[in-house]
Formats: sequence, structure tokens, C-alpha cells
Amino acid sequence: MNTSIKNILQNNDFSKDDIIELLYTSQSEAKLLYQKAKEVKSCQVGDKVFLRGLIEFSNLCVKDCFYCGIRKSNKNVERYFLSDDEIIQAAKFAFDENYGSIVLQSGELKSKEFITRIDGLIQRIRKLTGENFGITLSCGEQNESTYSRWFESGANRYLLRIETSNKELYKQIHPNNSLHSFQKRIESLRVLKNIGYQVGTGVMVGLPGQTLSHIADDILFMKALDIDMCGIGPYIEHKETPLFEQRSTLMPLNARFELTLKVLAIIRIMMKDINIAASTALQSIDKLGREKAIQVAANVFMPNITPQSYRKNYNLYDNKPCIAESPVECQSCTVARINLANGKVAFGEAGDAKHYLHR
Ligand code: SAM
Ligand code: SF4
Repeated sequence: MNTSIKNILQNNDFSKDDIIELLYTSQSEAKLLYQKAKEVKSCQVGDKVFLRGLIEFSNLCVKDCFYCGIRKSNKNVERYFLSDDEIIQAAKFAFDENYGSIVLQSGELKSKEFITRIDGLIQRIRKLTGENFGITLSCGEQNESTYSRWFESGANRYLLRIETSNKELYKQIHPNNSLHSFQKRIESLRVLKNIGYQVGTGVMVGLPGQTLSHIADDILFMKALDIDMCGIGPYIEHKETPLFEQRSTLMPLNARFELTLKVLAIIRIMMKDINIAASTALQSIDKLGREKAIQVAANVFMPNITPQSYRKNYNLYDNKPCIAESPVECQSCTVARINLANGKVAFGEAGDAKHYLHR
């Protein structure tokens, strides 16, 4: 056994070199990393797993990210926008079933009509659920005034993955135009934090051109940003995207999975009291992927509550799970999965990040 891994794991904060060494570990050495992350998790956030009912309310998007199956240029996608009533019904389902919170996620739209419509929906959902319910938005980059307006109307969390913290790599996975500005994305995260949102970010692991050095920088970026929530998943190819052409350069899916677990474990140790999601993409590689993430580091699970008929059109990557299930089916599956991971479903709890509450 490598003694330097043991030495590194005696600390709770890691340098870039330490992180690279931890990411590089063999499967048997990684067990030490996972053990340490489990200990930190148990001591800091316990075995509770918070639920976030995920409503993928629209796949319309003005952007063209090279990795994403619902990018604007993919003409093979049937575009949809749930009606207001469908969105409210989904939110009501989460509230009635004691999920404690929802995530409203969509492609990026910026029209006045969109902004006003989301604003109205937030107000209706807040009125329906009362104060002790988490309303998370994941609707991409918006102006400061829009973020503020939605916050004042009752949204209290925002998820915006930086995707990669390396400017050059960011350019390689996005078109070169002002809609896909790395600077704007970073600025958005700062603005969201200043407004008062609980802010979540994350990256994809295993992107073409991504190195362990990039990932180490990503982890240090999130630490420096002092985030409250983290959503990290493996990058998974989608046939109808430009990055698919580079698939021969990628590491195998199981290696991407293991690397993602290591990243989650390192984040749990370094950012001990944040909320970490067990991302759906983990499950598309390993049937028990989300359970494994919970065992090691994650304390948030996002059952899909999008009406079943729309799900096939929110296909971000190939083999995305939970497409054929209904919200009720996802519910029983969620409870079973969390139990299997020895977690306790935190029904009825909004599940604010401890890190945010301690600010
Ligand atoms: N449009 C918003 C945005 O981009 O921030 C929110 C929705 S977007 C579909 C949510 C996340 O999906 C992105 O942040 C990205 O990390 C992830 N995603 C998209 N394509 C993916 C892929 N091929 N593999 C894994 N994750 C992917
Ligand atoms: Fe649109 Fe988000 Fe997909 Fe980029 S990742 S194309 S912004 S939905």
C-alpha cells in the first residue's frame, strides 16, 4: 500500500499535487479515500438523504454546448415546454409526498416571456408550499436582475455547473461566441451568491481533453468559490453532438465512473458540510451508481418527477435512466435505492446545506 496516500489522507485539506495523487490511486488504494470520505460524511452530515423532485420542464434551449443532447442544433429532438398547470401539479406532487424541495430545470431561455412565466410559477409554488420548502432553479445564465427577481419571488437555490474551470477546455466544449462565455458563467456564480441563493456548481468528469490536473483545479475552484451544493457526474456521449466524434479519445465508462466517485470523495473531505448530489448520470454507467455515491459522499437524491411522456425528449446523453418511469415509480425506486445505500430518506425536510446555514 502506498504510504503517501495514507499521509495525504491524514489531512482534511489537499494541495493540487495531493488531489492529483488521490485521483490517480489504484482501486485498492481508493478504498482508503472512500473510507475517509465516509467518516467525514457520517460526522458532518450524517446518514440523511434529502430529496429534490426534479422537474425537467422544458428542453428548449438557445445554446449549443457540444456535449449536450438537447443543444439547439440537434434537430432530432421534439421540443416541449410543460404547461403551467403541469409544472404546478409536479411541484404539488413533491410537496404532498413530503419531498421537501424541487428543482426546476430547463434549457437556457432568455426571453421576457420566459422570465415572467418562471417568476409567476415560483410565486405560485411558494404560495402552495409555504416557506419551509426548497425551490431550486437550474435555468442557465441569466441577468442579475432576473436572478434577483426570481429570488425575491421565492426561489432560494440555484444550480449552475461551471462544467470545467479551465478556460481553454471550456472553449473546446462550447461554440466560440458570446452566448457561451466562460467569464459570464463564472460571473453568474458570483452574482447568485451575492444575491443570497444557496449556490451549487459542478463539472463533468471524463470530458475529451480533460486531464487529472484540470479536475484538481476544478475541485480547488469549487473550494475557493465556497459553494453550498455540488453536482458532479461523468460525461457521457450523445450520438447527435459534436463531442461524439472524439469518443475514441475517452477513457472507458467504468473508469469515468470510478474517477467521479473519487472526485466526490475528495470534495466531501475538503468541503465537509456542503450538499452533494448523487447524479443521475452515475446510474447510466452503473446500475447502483447513485447508491455508491451516497455510500461514499452524497447526501442529496433527485427523483425525477417530470411527467413520463416528456422524459424521452430530455435526453442529455445516451442511455439516460428513468425515461420510461412515472413519478410514482421513481418514488418507490428512490426509497429502495436510499435504503440500499444505508441512508435515511429525509422526508419533509427542505435540506438546506449546513454550509449555507453556517455562513
Ligand atoms: N441549461 C442549464 C445549464 O446548462 O446550466 C441546465 C440544464 S443542463 C441540461 C444540466 C446539466 O446537464 C449541465 O450542466 C451539464 O453538466 C449536464 N449535461 C449535459 N450534457 C451532458 C452529457 N453529455 N453528459 C453528462 N452531463 C451532461
Ligand atoms: Fe442548453 Fe444546458 Fe444543454 Fe447547454 S447544457 S445545450 S445550456 S440545456
